[in-house]
Amino acid sequence: MSRSTVYRNLRALEDARQIHAVSIPGQAPRYELARAAASHHHHFHCQRCDRVYELEGCPGGLKGLLPRGFTLEDHTIVLTGKCGACVG
Ligand SMILES: [Zn+2]
Ligand SMILES: [Zn+2]
Repeated sequence: MSRSTVYRNLRALEDARQIHAVSIPGQAPRYELARAAASHHHHFHCQRCDRVYELEGCPGGLKGLLPRGFTLEDHTIVLTGKCGACVG
């Protein structure tokens, strides 16, 4: 399969809500199963091995960062560093 075909197929799956795009700044989009995305979580990007890990939970309280009159609809948190395998 060509790269563009892969992306087209991914897009179709995304439209069908079977997968969910995960945006890591400066990286090509990654995808995870919508089943995993259904429970709100965040991600850790290992800068050494380039793996992306799911993090459970959310620090919350983000509305407090908004200027007056803004509304918050969604957020993405990506922590970066070295994973346990890379540190070890
Ligand atoms: Zn790593
Ligand atoms: Zn969150």
